[in-house]
Amino acid sequence: MTNYKETLNILSALKLKGMSEKLEDKINAAEKRKMSYLSFLKSILEMEIEYRTQKRLKRNFAGAHFPVEKHLGNFEFKYCKGITKREIQGLLDFSFIDNHENVLLFGPPGIGKTHLSIALGYEALQSGYTVCFEKMNSLIKLLKTVDIQRTSAFRINRILKSDLLIIDEIGYTPIDKKEANYFFNIISELYERNSIIITSNKPFESWAEMLGDEIMTTALLDRILHHAHIFSLSGESYRIRKFKKSKKEV
Ligand code: ADP
Ligand code: MG
Repeated sequence: MTNYKETLNILSALKLKGMSEKLEDKINAAEKRKMSYLSFLKSILEMEIEYRTQKRLKRNFAGAHFPVEKHLGNFEFKYCKGITKREIQGLLDFSFIDNHENVLLFGPPGIGKTHLSIALGYEALQSGYTVCFEKMNSLIKLLKTVDIQRTSAFRINRILKSDLLIIDEIGYTPIDKKEANYFFNIISELYERNSIIITSNKPFESWAEMLGDEIMTTALLDRILHHAHIFSLSGESYRIRKFKKSKKEV
């Protein structure tokens, strides 16, 4: 066996896949540039780190379960009142995640709440945080089946361990008392340990009605609002605006 093949086998036994992938190119480049042994060693170690970082990002992205990809780059702030580009940029140092604070986005349908929550989650992932996205009704389903379905238990476990949980669309579907209780329990578990982004079309005042229990809602809001960045968005639905514009152009 050649030296090169033996080296590849060793790298494979040590699970250093990042180093083995472009090893030949790296060796050729090093020989051409007459690189020092130390610089060569450093460059292939960096290659391994980069490979692992990319792999982790890919895994975290898949584990986030974003329903669609949305980015801050194509969010048109001029159409959305109640939040500025600067305020969103202020969140991008992710001290809100480090400090286990929450971000709440309120407003009518089509205003960009889901878009902003996914885009923030995506940026958080890029910065190395773990993120989980769940629509409120899926979260409730998971909580109800956690004892009988392994996939639900696995997902809830991931949610509890993630740095940031995005709960989208609180308020669209009413929930019963038992479900509200499950919801309260998970929020209590996450409180001051993880960070949550919540989107809702219902202001706090209607939450008690939605959750069916005033005392529990007060306790729930107490936890959610304790460390929270609150944005009340308003404006015309982006979809309707686009629809009107396209009709005018025809
Ligand atoms: P909401 O969650 O508030 O109901 P969405 O985030 O689902 O609204 O937005 C509806 C659609 O319009 C999505 O495709 C979203 O990307 C787009 N959208 C909403 N607001 C904006 C905006 N200000 N700039 C760019 N796209 C937007
Ligand atoms: Mg939405």
